[in-house]
Amino acid sequence: MDAKLLDILVCPLCKGELLYKKTEQELLCKPCKLAFPVKDGIPVMLEEEARQLPPDER
Ligand SMILES: [Zn+2]
Repeated sequence: MDAKLLDILVCPLCKGELLYKKTEQELLCKPCKLAFPVKDGIPVMLEEEARQLPPDER
């Protein structure tokens, strides 16, 4: 995914910084404990599409 795009992306809920997981193709927000999917290089910044992080990934 484009590094510039990653720079401007924030969590839609807390407006916090996101952590890009390249192997998982996910953007993590630790405070919200959510992982947003990246589909074909396009981050899907929707709460409904996000995955709840299990305790071991928090
Ligand atoms: Zn957040």
